[in-house]
Amino acid sequence: MTSPIICRVALAIPLHKQFDYVLPDYLLTTEVDTLVGRRVRVPFGGKRQMIGVICDVNPECDYAIDKLKKVTQLIDTAPLLDKSLWSLLRWAAFYYQHPLGDVFQQAIPTHLRQGKEAIFKGEEYWQVSDSDIKIDDFKNAKKQRQALLLLQASKLSYQQLKEQGVTRQTLNTLKEKELITSLELQPESDLNWANHFSETAQKPTLTTEQAIAITSVTQYMEQFKCYLLEGITGSGKTEVYLNILKPILAKGKQALVIVPEIGLTPQTVQRFKARFNVPIHIKHSGLNARQQLDTWLHAQQGSAAIIIGTRSAIFSDCKNLGLIIIDEEHDASFKQQEGFRYHARDFAIKRAHKENIPIILGSATPSLETLHNALQGKYKHLYLTQRAGKAKPPSSSLINLAGLHLKSGLSPQLIELMHQHLARNNQVILFLNRRGYAPVLMCHECGWLVKCSRCDAFYTYHKSANYLHCHHCSSTLPVPHQCHDCGSTQLIATGVGTEQLEETLKAEFPDYPTVRIDRDNTRKKESFNQYLNDINSGKYKILLGTQMLAKGHHFSDVTLVALIDVDGALFSNDFRASERLAQLFTQVAGRAGREEKKGQVVLQTHHPEHSLLQDLINNGYQEFSRNALQERVIAQLPPSTYQALLRAEASVPTLAENFLGLCRQIFSQITVSNGTDKQVLILGPIPANMERRAGKYRFQLLLQSSTRSLITQTLQQGLTKCEQLPEGRKLKWSIDVDPIDFT
Ligand code: ADP
Ligand code: ZN
Ligand code: ZN
Repeated sequence: MTSPIICRVALAIPLHKQFDYVLPDYLLTTEVDTLVGRRVRVPFGGKRQMIGVICDVNPECDYAIDKLKKVTQLIDTAPLLDKSLWSLLRWAAFYYQHPLGDVFQQAIPTHLRQGKEAIFKGEEYWQVSDSDIKIDDFKNAKKQRQALLLLQASKLSYQQLKEQGVTRQTLNTLKEKELITSLELQPESDLNWANHFSETAQKPTLTTEQAIAITSVTQYMEQFKCYLLEGITGSGKTEVYLNILKPILAKGKQALVIVPEIGLTPQTVQRFKARFNVPIHIKHSGLNARQQLDTWLHAQQGSAAIIIGTRSAIFSDCKNLGLIIIDEEHDASFKQQEGFRYHARDFAIKRAHKENIPIILGSATPSLETLHNALQGKYKHLYLTQRAGKAKPPSSSLINLAGLHLKSGLSPQLIELMHQHLARNNQVILFLNRRGYAPVLMCHECGWLVKCSRCDAFYTYHKSANYLHCHHCSSTLPVPHQCHDCGSTQLIATGVGTEQLEETLKAEFPDYPTVRIDRDNTRKKESFNQYLNDINSGKYKILLGTQMLAKGHHFSDVTLVALIDVDGALFSNDFRASERLAQLFTQVAGRAGREEKKGQVVLQTHHPEHSLLQDLINNGYQEFSRNALQERVIAQLPPSTYQALLRAEASVPTLAENFLGLCRQIFSQITVSNGTDKQVLILGPIPANMERRAGKYRFQLLLQSSTRSLITQTLQQGLTKCEQLPEGRKLKWSIDVDPIDFT
C-alpha cells in the first residue's frame, strides 16, 4: 500500500497559516507533481466547505495522518495558473505579508473563487435535424415556417433566433415534432489572430521624440527592461504604445495594458480597437462575473491579443505575454487600499522581470517613486516634451483670492475669464474636489458645527437630497432646524461644494448650460457615458466636476480650466499631498487646449506666494517633481526610504494603542537581535490623522528603513508573533507595505 498523499492548502482566511489535508486515492487520477496550484474543496471549521489552493505536497506535517481531514474535491485537472504567475503570487504574499490563500483568490475571477470550472460558458444553438423538410406543409404556421427557413440556411444561436423574433415556444414545438435539435457550442475564440494580424493604414506621422521613444523600446523586445515614458499631456503617449505594440502582436505575443479607470475612459479602448484587427478583451469591475471569467480565459488560452484592464488585470494569466504597459503609472488607484494591499505597478515590474519582457510606465506626471528609479538609471527614461499635432501647451496663472468677494468660491476675475472663453463658443472646466452643497453646517449665532458623532469630521450638507452625510463613515442625518447649543434657527451652509457651485453657475451663466460630474450624479455607468457624449456634442458649455473629470478625457473645445480651491493640499500633514496636488493640477491643465485652440489654466488660492504653486506655474511638473524628490531625500522619506505601516482600530483608544505598543516591542527585539536596530526606524504608536472614524479609534505604527529587505525581514520575523498576541483578537489590525495613505 502506498502512503497517503498530504496536501497543504492555502485558504482565503486572515491568518498566515496553511492547513494539511489527506487526498483520498479515488480523487487522484493524475501525477502527484501536478498537484501544486490546483484548486480543492475542503472542509473547514464545522460543516463549512471552502475553496483553497494546494501549495505543497507531502510537507512535514505536525499532526498524525489519521487526525487530518480529507479533501472533498479536486477541482482542477491541472494547475490553474502558469508557473511563473504562481511563483509571483507567492512572492507577493511574502512581500506584502498577506496570506497566500487570499492573494490567490484575489488574483482569479469570482467564478473560479467559488469553485466553478475554468471553461467558457457554452451557448445554446439550434439546427434542423433533417435537411429535406417540406416547408410547404407550414403555410398556416407562419412562426414555425420562419424558424425553419432560418435554420435551414444555417445553425443559429438562441440569441440570434430571438433577435429575428423566434420564440422559445416555437422552438419547443418544432423540437417535439423532431424537426430541429439544440446543441451547446463554445463561443468563438480566435486563436489564430496572429496569422491575420494587421493595422489600419491611417496613422499620424510620428514626431521625432515619439520615434526615438519607440525605437528605444523595440530594439530590445525580448528581454526585461523597465521604461519610464515621461510625456506631457497631449504629447502622444498612446501613439507610442500603439507603435510598440505592433511588433509584439505581429509575433503573436500578448500585451497587458493597465489603466486607472476603464469605465471612465472608453476612448482609450476605442483607440486600440481602431488600430489593430486583433481580439481585445477588457477587464474591470463593471463587468459581471461571467464576463470577467471569459476575459480571463481568453488571456489564458491565447485568444486575447490585448487585455486592457484596471488594477487586478495585472494578474491575468497570459499564454504568451510579450509586453506590459502601465498607463498613468502615478495613479493612486493602482494601490489596493484594503485586504491584500498590493501595488499593481510594482507587481507588474516584478512580473515583467520574471517573464523577461519589457514594461512601459507612462505618465505626464510620474510618481516620485518611479522618477527616483529612472533618475538613478534603474529604468530607461524616455521623454516627450512637445504636444503632438497642432496643440499648444496651455498658459497658466494664479488668482489671489485674498480680500476678494467670492460667489460660491468664484472670484470676479474668474467669472470675467469664463465669459470671455464662453463668448468664443468654447467650453470651460471648473474643478472642485468636494461633493455636496457645503462641507459644513454652522450656527450663525454661536458657531456650533454639525459634527459626525462617529468620526473626527463634519457632516457635508446635501441640499437637493436634503440631508447631512458623513463622507467618511457614510452615516446620514436629517438637516437640523435648530442649533444644539444655543437653539438658534440660523444654521448656515459654510464652504462650497460642487452642488452649490452648480447652483451659482446656473444663475450666473443662464445662457451656457452647466453639467456637474461627481459621484453623486453619475452613479450609473450609462449616465457618465451619456454626459461624456453630451459634452463632446457641445450640449454643455460649463463642466463642473471632482477628480473624475481629471482623468484622460479628451474634450476638444475646452480652452479654460480652473481649479477653484487648492489651499487644503498646501498645508496637509501628509507628505504626499503636494505631489498629488501637482499631479492633479498638471493633469487637469492637460484638458485645456487639446486641439488647435490655445488653452488657459487658472488656479485660485489665498497663498499665491507658496513655493509649490510658484514652482508649478512657472516651471511645470518636471521641475517641481525633481525639487520635491530632493526634499524627500533630505527628509529621508520615500522613495529614498521604504515604509510599512501597522494599523489598528478599536472602540476603546487604549486597546489599539496598547496592541501596537506590544507590536513595537516585538519588532524592537527583532531588530536588536539582528543587529539592524540602527537601520530600521520604528515610529509610534501614534493616532492616525483622523483618529476616530466610524466609531473606531485608529492608531498606527510605522517601520522605515533605507534598505527594503530589512523591512521585509523584520515583518517576516515579527508578524507571526504579533498574530499570537491575545490583545490583537479584540480589535482589527492590518499591515500595509509601501503605504501611500496615512489618513
Ligand atoms: P497623451 O496620451 O500623451 O495625452 P495622446 O496619445 O492622447 O496623448 O495624443 C494626443 C492627441 O494627439 C491625440 O488626438 C492623438 O491622436 C494626437 N497625436 C498623437 N501623435 C500624433 C502625431 N505624431 N501627429 C499628430 N497627432 C498626433
Ligand atoms: Zn448656536
Ligand atoms: Zn462619520
